[in-house]
Amino acid sequence: MKKIFYILATSVAIFLGSCKEDEAKPSKSEASIHLTLGNPSNARIDENTPENYLMSISQYALSYNSTKGHANWVSWIVDNSWLGSVDRTDNFRPNDEIPIQWYRVNHYDYFSPPNGTTPTGFDRGHMCPSADRTKIRDDNSATFLMTNMIPQAPRNNQQTWASLEDYTRSLVGANSNMGAYVISGTYGTGGDCPAGKFESLQRGKINVPERTWKIIVLMPLVNTGSVFAPLGTIGDDATRVNNNTRVIAVDMPNSQTINTNWRTYRVSVDFLEQKTGLDFLSRVPQSIQDVIEARVDNL
Ligand code: MN
Ligand code: MN
Repeated sequence: MKKIFYILATSVAIFLGSCKEDEAKPSKSEASIHLTLGNPSNARIDENTPENYLMSISQYALSYNSTKGHANWVSWIVDNSWLGSVDRTDNFRPNDEIPIQWYRVNHYDYFSPPNGTTPTGFDRGHMCPSADRTKIRDDNSATFLMTNMIPQAPRNNQQTWASLEDYTRSLVGANSNMGAYVISGTYGTGGDCPAGKFESLQRGKINVPERTWKIIVLMPLVNTGSVFAPLGTIGDDATRVNNNTRVIAVDMPNSQTINTNWRTYRVSVDFLEQKTGLDFLSRVPQSIQDVIEARVDNL
């Protein structure tokens, strides 16, 4: 008995010792409430994967691609607990959390095409929208980090994309008992704006995406008896997704020729998984993924 205790105690001591060694390096959590339904590319906080680097803050989580100069995907929760009345902070700025050896995209870079002379006219398009983070100023400010931006055709950003953002908030805003898990990103190279078609900006440091996509999973909030609990605060939301869960997925051209009706761009999640190589909703049981990822929203 004594011997067993000794072995156990020694193992625990070694285990604690090795933890301590890890803690000497700056350690950040890879867990996030925004990734409750899955981490689509299994992104990690690992500088050896510069094209799939996890950046997680309290407002959203993303996979950063340092070759493209923008995220592969950004994932966030939106429900009424994130919505309030603070003004847009409009403080577009580089993200200082990007490892120092990689280029940090700046707020003016989108105005510089490959030859560095003519302004291109791409919008600094939010993935997690400013208007989804209006409860407190810090939350809104976090959406203006350049890691949350893509070079987006103004007509896509200001019309089609914006109207889907508005529609989403109309479903989850005040007096709603719904919330949403949202994931958005891009694929491909080459988009157009009023100044013409471009494949990259700032002498090749920033990829101009060809397509923009988004997935919205609508979830009822848990009724605690007195209040509806915000998403991510009670239990595991992945276990509450079922075959009837409404999922809206869209795939849009990053182009000035875009149709302004977002509904015309609806696709299945399966289609987006095929186009992007990502695995969405991976924490949802496979049999349920099989049903909800094959369906195209038609409400
Ligand atoms: Mn926008
Ligand atoms: Mn999936």
